[in-house]
Amino acid sequence: MLTNKTVIIIGASVTGLSAAIALNQKGFDVTIFERHSSNQTIGAGIVLWSNASFILAKLGLLEAIKKVSGKPDNMKRLSVTNDVLGTLNIDIINKEIGFDSYSILRKDLQGVLLDELSNKGVKINYNSPIVDIVSLENKAYIVFENGLKYTADIIVGADGRMASQARKYVLGENTSSYQSFINWIGIYKSKKKLFTSMDILDYWGVGERFGIVPIDTYTCYWAGGIFSKTIEPKEPLKYKNELLDIFKKYPPIVAKVIEESLLESVNKIYLHDHNPKSCWHKDNVIMLGDAAHAALPTSGQGSAQALEDAWHFANILFENSTNIELAFKKFTQMRYRKTTAIIETGRNLAMSIFNNDENYCYHRNEASKKIDFSILAKGMAKGWREGLKDENIVTYR
Ligand SMILES: Cc1cc2nc3c(=O)[nH]c(=O)nc-3n(C[C@H](O)[C@H](O)[C@H](O)COP(=O)(O)OP(=O)(O)OC[C@H]3O[C@@H](n4cnc5c(N)ncnc54)[C@H](O)[C@@H]3O)c2cc1C
Repeated sequence: MLTNKTVIIIGASVTGLSAAIALNQKGFDVTIFERHSSNQTIGAGIVLWSNASFILAKLGLLEAIKKVSGKPDNMKRLSVTNDVLGTLNIDIINKEIGFDSYSILRKDLQGVLLDELSNKGVKINYNSPIVDIVSLENKAYIVFENGLKYTADIIVGADGRMASQARKYVLGENTSSYQSFINWIGIYKSKKKLFTSMDILDYWGVGERFGIVPIDTYTCYWAGGIFSKTIEPKEPLKYKNELLDIFKKYPPIVAKVIEESLLESVNKIYLHDHNPKSCWHKDNVIMLGDAAHAALPTSGQGSAQALEDAWHFANILFENSTNIELAFKKFTQMRYRKTTAIIETGRNLAMSIFNNDENYCYHRNEASKKIDFSILAKGMAKGWREGLKDENIVTYR
């Protein structure tokens, strides 16, 4: 069945692109507007945990993803002096959810999504910043720089965490919350083999963390984070030296990936999230992905939740296409609890990892050595599996 409903999507990143694919597959007429002039790839890489793979399989994209990603085996938590604080066997999560997890560069994930849209003939309107959303007789219109207004049956705000126009329209404000830590991120690519295993390395210091995620034996992405109350102007030429200085006491692999990464791949991000809000829609506007429920990267779930939003939203809208308000309500009700729990987990983990009290960190690390990581893995899988079984779709009807 084809619906005759039109959908505008603001933003062509993970949420916007995956929502466009899911909606197009259900027969909606989708138009995407992106403020940048081309595909952006902020956020060097991503672990697509099993729940993301579930959605990618549903969208028919998992085989393409497998071709450009790695398959991590373990996540090793280590001290600055290389003591093992615990090892998470990723296969436990994979088995609990029924799909493997993949490590992928952001540009490759977006490449797969863009290829799918191109194959389906869906074009992206780049260089199209939406400067406002206004209400005319209870219907929202997006506003372009030249003042032109445009609308559709549904407007999806997939416009991110920092200044979402959709969030401003729905909630009256779009401020995000700075969580007092910074991440430098980058991509390491070499002609020489560096990795002998596909283990994610996660070094925990005092108020610091350095994570290395291999994609293959030659390539990884990495993130170095520190506690910081203040936000300073960014100076890209200093990024590598800042990192080498902060992480100088870490095992040699840390300095190696920093030194040998191309400076263009290195970025510095002051990390913001959102205080959870239970209302995600107003009139014909709905927020998806980071615009609705941005979580810190310590949650490891931003992209997975963007993909889950896309798939659930397309299903629910399709089933309720004659009553858009009801569809919006059902979608929000269905997604609020899980995404709120993920925001909270991201914050709790960040508070512990970026705690800068030496005594606290000593006891945290000792406690970590005593954790049963197989129970931890099962607990993570239980949370991430919520809402993903086929039979749950029946409850929307
Ligand atoms: C440092 C970092 C590391 C991360 N690591 C991971 C990870 O390992 N795993 C994971 O699952 N997630 C991770 N995430 C989270 C993940 O990147 C996001 O949650 C996910 O990509 C969903 O983002 P989005 O598409 O909703 O928003 P964004 O990626 O922010 O995209 C918003 C898009 O909207 C466009 N836009 C904004 N305003 C306008 C406008 N007015 N007009 C037109 N276009 C507009 C923007 O240009 C952009 O293209 C990380 C995030 C950060 C910051």
